[in-house]
Amino acid sequence: MIPSILPTYSRAPLSFVKGEGAWLLESGGDRYLDLGAGIAVNALGHANPDLVAALTEQAQSLWHVSNLYNIPAQQKLADLLVDHTFADTAFFTNSGTEACELAVKMARKYFYDKGQPEKTDIITFSGAFHGRSAAGIAAAGSEKMTKGFGPLLPGFINLPFGDHEALSLAINDKTAAILIEPIQGEGGIRTVPDQCLKGLRDRCNYHGILLIFDEVQCGMGRTGKLFAHEWAGVTPDIMMVAKGIGGGFPLGAVLATENAASGMTAGTHGSTYGGNPLACAVGARVMEIMTDDAFLPEVTRKAGLLRQGLESLVAAHPGVFQEVRGAGLMLGLKCNAPNTDVVTAGYGEHLLTVPAADNVVRLLPPLTLTDEDISEALIRLDRAAAKVQAHTV
Ligand SMILES: *Cc1c(COP(=O)(O)O)cnc(C)c1O
Repeated sequence: MIPSILPTYSRAPLSFVKGEGAWLLESGGDRYLDLGAGIAVNALGHANPDLVAALTEQAQSLWHVSNLYNIPAQQKLADLLVDHTFADTAFFTNSGTEACELAVKMARKYFYDKGQPEKTDIITFSGAFHGRSAAGIAAAGSEKMTKGFGPLLPGFINLPFGDHEALSLAINDKTAAILIEPIQGEGGIRTVPDQCLKGLRDRCNYHGILLIFDEVQCGMGRTGKLFAHEWAGVTPDIMMVAKGIGGGFPLGAVLATENAASGMTAGTHGSTYGGNPLACAVGARVMEIMTDDAFLPEVTRKAGLLRQGLESLVAAHPGVFQEVRGAGLMLGLKCNAPNTDVVTAGYGEHLLTVPAADNVVRLLPPLTLTDEDISEALIRLDRAAAKVQAHTV
């Protein structure tokens, strides 16, 4: 008999009732150290008092009015995003997937309005993840996500990750945009080198096409900059944001330059909930906290501590781990043993990590985890690795 929850997830037998910082509690009182943060969502930790205050304050005055009216919290969040990024304008969604939908529509509309309606193709890369909608799975193109769900939305050209030659051959008169995650999350914490992001920017300029970054997972302070592309010193035309921006409240956004957004006039796009007062009150508080001068340097300092510990861990358990990858607090342990064995052994040590493709274990902790949390995480990972090692030899 089908369960009352559609069984599209194989869930770990854990259920949490409370969160505090980087820790999750089960009803019996068992405490788990959370290095997954709800897949890079709880960027400021669980039950962050500032976010609880922002949400409850808003909840006591007004929950929802729709985008038929001005929403002060939405205006505040949009201004903060425009002030601190390349973008001139923002549209708010409830998820990363919806941000992908708008990014695709925006790119196509841009060329339609320029009198080049044939430019509809979006180039994407293997291992990408852009959400589970019809556009999102077509964009990613992997068999795992698309099989059985055809016919797929046309207009996506999926290329091998890192294949410069294939990219040169693929750009043609039908190309509208290149869509890429500066660091692939689901794909296994695969970083696009800075010089490649620069190269993509140059190619897009040369061909007059749009560059879209999907920073749903790698953005919002995760790499030690507000957005990962800042390390490369280049900017996109359009960017998808979600996950960390709501700190656990469902919120996403599409940020864009005035030029890229020029086709999106009144009536061309919409959302009932998108940019709702509750979500934006929390999002604005998240932005205020992350743009405090002291915040991002702390992320970088703690990321250094964690990374150093992980390098030692890899050296100590060569049968289990191969290397550390990623940037800031978006880290991956490429495994020699099955990654799911490592994640499961972690549960035994009351430590939460997240598997990814390419046999990687992802570490995406709250950016606010403490130095003690980092030491504890390394101790628990070491014990988990020892258990996996004992089982594999
Ligand atoms: C999670 C994710 C998405 C989809 O976001 P949802 O909020 O799950 O719809 C899109 N792109 C990337 C890079 C992601 O990590």
